[in-house]
Amino acid sequence: MKSRSSSKAPYPECGPISERHVQALWYDGALRPESLRTVEGVPLKVIDPGTWNLEAGPDFLGAVVEVGGTRMRGDVEVHLRAIDWTVHGHGTDPAYANVVVHVTWHAGGCARLPPGCAEVCLGQFLRARSDFSPDEIDLSAYPYARLAASPRPCEAVFARNPDLFLGVLKAAGSRRIEGKARRLKALFVRRGERAQVFYSEVMAALGYKHNTAAFRALAEALPWSELPEERGAAETALACAAGLGVAREARWRTANVRPANSPERRLAEAAALFAGSYPGLLRELDAFDLASEEGQRCACAMLRSRAGIGAGRAAAILANVVTPFALAESRIPRAPQWLCPEDVSSPARLTAFRMLGRDHNPALYSGNGLLVQGLIHIHREFCLAAHPDCSNCALVSHIGESS
Ligand code: SF4
Repeated sequence: MKSRSSSKAPYPECGPISERHVQALWYDGALRPESLRTVEGVPLKVIDPGTWNLEAGPDFLGAVVEVGGTRMRGDVEVHLRAIDWTVHGHGTDPAYANVVVHVTWHAGGCARLPPGCAEVCLGQFLRARSDFSPDEIDLSAYPYARLAASPRPCEAVFARNPDLFLGVLKAAGSRRIEGKARRLKALFVRRGERAQVFYSEVMAALGYKHNTAAFRALAEALPWSELPEERGAAETALACAAGLGVAREARWRTANVRPANSPERRLAEAAALFAGSYPGLLRELDAFDLASEEGQRCACAMLRSRAGIGAGRAAAILANVVTPFALAESRIPRAPQWLCPEDVSSPARLTAFRMLGRDHNPALYSGNGLLVQGLIHIHREFCLAAHPDCSNCALVSHIGESS
């Protein structure tokens, strides 16, 4: 915690506190008060705050704490008020049955917690402290940027060895493409409709990160075989299905979506790709040698001219769908070692920052989409599962064992 002027008044005058502040306070050992006690006054020691859960369910998974000297392992749920546990219906939700600590800011209000679950009110410890200000917590840094302080274990290994870094990224990118190919193979077996599987996967890719599920649901609601031949009519049909049939099941997200990624724009691109002679698109893509850089570039140019999409989006469709599709159908023997450069997403950027340090040159990886795929793979497979101090990073232990 940063120190602040003693002339500043303590909370609540110094600014509002949100649930995310409380999450950060629990997660980050540098912010969390050293000596904690449960609301009953029993000493509570945090051995591991758990993994920050970005999906449904408790806020932190797999935490380890000692309550009155007894070690407990389980999940942690965070709320501003104790009563929020009941208000949110966690008491009857089996996903919360393994919660061992309920962390709140405000005291009071009863919650029917799982048997043995400890209750900690962080506000009791921090509210009166003149050196605490929620305004000084950089919430955007959590959970990704608050791993171990630099140099992180991976940075110590890779920052001075760019060849090793590139080799690891290529291997990780290949693993990601191979994983996608395996998933597609399973879909072929289950669905048996090559053209529909491809259509559905490209639609999901057009949904970008916020509307992937909605676009996939739309592809199911309006299969390619039912799309009108004419492009304008296909766009209208997709827009109608999106507005009438699917919206209730899969909500569209439009907040914080750039205009270029708006669902309307993506529907127009989908119509351009799939109206009319769609299976012809598949045959055209089949003809490119996707194992080669030239084949990848030609396929990218074809997608761009056909759908009017940007280079980054076309590269993402190639990396996430077209190339794994070719691998799943054994038209290429392995993941290509070069893919068209796609936009470097924030998780990929952050992973590179962690692995190479603040001053690295992004040109090292941004010119090859396979390397960007490698960064995303490392982010998902290693960083998201890491403890706050990176002590359990399987990537670094693997590199250590094989070097
Ligand atoms: S978890 Fe991520 S940041 Fe930490 S050492 Fe592993 S790769 Fe690096």
